Amino acid sequence: MSNRLTKLSAWLTKENIEAALITSPDNIFYLTGFRSEPHERLLALVAFQEKEPFIICPAMEKADARNSGWEYEIIGYQDTDQPWDFMEQRIKARIPDIQQGAIEKNHLNVQRYEELITRFPGIILQDAEPILNELRMLKTAEEMASIRKACELADFAVEVGVSEIAEGKTELDLIATIEYEVKKKGVSGMSFDTMVLTGVNAASPHGTPGISRIKKGDFVLFDLGVIYEGYCSDITRTVAFGDISSEQQKIYETVLSAQEAAVNAVKPGVLAKDLDRIARTHIQNAGYGEFFPHRLGHGLGISIHEYPSITATNPLNMAAGMVFTIEPGIYVPDVAGVRIEDDVFVTENGVEVLTKYPKSLQIV
Ligand code: MN
Ligand code: MN
Repeated sequence: MSNRLTKLSAWLTKENIEAALITSPDNIFYLTGFRSEPHERLLALVAFQEKEPFIICPAMEKADARNSGWEYEIIGYQDTDQPWDFMEQRIKARIPDIQQGAIEKNHLNVQRYEELITRFPGIILQDAEPILNELRMLKTAEEMASIRKACELADFAVEVGVSEIAEGKTELDLIATIEYEVKKKGVSGMSFDTMVLTGVNAASPHGTPGISRIKKGDFVLFDLGVIYEGYCSDITRTVAFGDISSEQQKIYETVLSAQEAAVNAVKPGVLAKDLDRIARTHIQNAGYGEFFPHRLGHGLGISIHEYPSITATNPLNMAAGMVFTIEPGIYVPDVAGVRIEDDVFVTENGVEVLTKYPKSLQIV
């Protein structure tokens, strides 16, 4: 059994829980190595304290599940089958009268929850997500190799985007070229919809790219990431097109110094909330506190947002092996939007910055 699955089983034993039903594709990938996006179809891993685990998946994916290295039972079902019947039967064959189960409370939908409590009346359900989040938070050397490569490709993607900036091109023009070039490098998917925002659009932290045309005196903000061997990267760079105003420059320099101060403070033992505070204080002191409306950063790995969350209230100690983003921003409506985001890895002694595209103000 994989080391990760063994840890989940050990947790079940410790908590006196007889079985865990795992349905989020990211956790299934983490625990089994099988990557699948089943959409509305049921994909599940059922793990036990000691009994043999099994995967239930659409029949057409059974071969993929086997090829991923999964050595235990795989139940493939047809679209005309009722997969819950198969699941109920396999669970009851292992544990006839199950009392305690675990699910992912933030993932299992109400319909599936009702299916479960109808088939296993009286079952008490605990949340398996905290233990999985905790396990996933500390990356192995193997995971880091994939994340480093994803970050390298994200740097390349920004480089492509910046080199494509020209008067009159739209945000979507730049996105099309970026994604074309990274896919030619073997990237199968982006971590999320690539964001290129220009001018007033850049002043919205989660703006939607469209047909706005780049013009002189605007910032162009790139926020993107790629998935490599199942692991995500996430980078933001903001560059100036032509001359910008002194206020735009001040905003840029404030974000940059806040970002660098937080990055430089990363080491084992520092608290998540202290990292947020370092950057936030910097931005507040420059008079832009109200224009930084989000947390400093988020963990990333198999999911684009995972633990740890770098917020003003999280007392979590940073530890060697964690990977997260540091991404302060200032968004002043009708003036400018600037965000600078790096992915960082906590080492035994300090920090390794994984995304390396230059950060000093670039005027193209
Ligand atoms: Mn981002
Ligand atoms: Mn991010």
